[in-house]
Amino acid sequence: MKKIRARLTGSYRDDARYPAALVNVTNHCNLSCSHCFVFRDGNPNQASRSIRDGMRDDEILETLRALRDRHGIVSMLWMGGEPLLKPHLLERGLRLFSRNTVTTNGTVPLVDFGPGALYVVSLDGPEDLNDRIRGAGVFRRVIRTLSRIPERFASPVQVQAVVTRRNQHRLEELVEAVRGTRAGWMTFSFYVPRAGDAGDDAWPTNQERAAAVREVMRLGREHPGFIRNSTRSLELMLPEHCKRVTDACPAKRHVLPLYMEHDRFATPFCCYGNDVDCDRCGAWVVFHLAAKLARPSTQSQ
Ligand code: SF4
Ligand code: SF4
Repeated sequence: MKKIRARLTGSYRDDARYPAALVNVTNHCNLSCSHCFVFRDGNPNQASRSIRDGMRDDEILETLRALRDRHGIVSMLWMGGEPLLKPHLLERGLRLFSRNTVTTNGTVPLVDFGPGALYVVSLDGPEDLNDRIRGAGVFRRVIRTLSRIPERFASPVQVQAVVTRRNQHRLEELVEAVRGTRAGWMTFSFYVPRAGDAGDDAWPTNQERAAAVREVMRLGREHPGFIRNSTRSLELMLPEHCKRVTDACPAKRHVLPLYMEHDRFATPFCCYGNDVDCDRCGAWVVFHLAAKLARPSTQSQ
């Protein structure tokens, strides 16, 4: 029997099927973004002093293989910290799952893992707004990475941007900047606030978020094929539907989150950690899954 180095708590069930999982392969990152949910207080996030002192690659892979076999995990989302700081681990880990997505901040050189691995590169608005969150010069570094994707690079590259109350009026600028690169397409996720979050990025209510959702719908019509949030998933984000979706969060049922803590993995409340405000959650994955699973009564005509 393979050893599982994980503290599996919360709503986790031994006998549950999880079609997807996300794994934090390191708590180290070369950036320190202000909205990072990996490094929030209250989330499992202890970074070892050196990247070499964390869980060993073999222990990580053995645990993931055992959890895959126990739960039927098909799809893995590789996260960090910055997962590309561990390219050799990724190279081996990608062979364990049929579908793989690697999230990256786009400032570390992309490795061609072949057509079976999708990159999701994060940007959070046009240059000034992005860099206020992610650090000075980061926007240009990411655009440079995206612009220099080699002709024969086989892994598809998607950009995902988080829409916030602050950047909602400047999304078109961001789309134009990304369209000038070699990125394949974009999706938008919406800010997931912490419980009690009254900061500049969070909308106080979902009614106030609706204009931003409609703006992404409009951009989707302007840039068909390039902006790939489905219309149905965006409709589900509107105030008349969203509470019903988040009350029965499909991501919580379908995605097993594995955060690294000391020498093992820990399962937080959900993919976004422990201290989230579900009622105002705008996570792409939640509404994407809900749209795929939606009963006819919630679908658009
Ligand atoms: S790049 Fe990602 S993991 Fe690193 S600090 Fe920013 S949000 Fe956190
Ligand atoms: S915060 Fe979002 S992803 Fe997490 S459980 Fe709540 S609705 Fe689901």
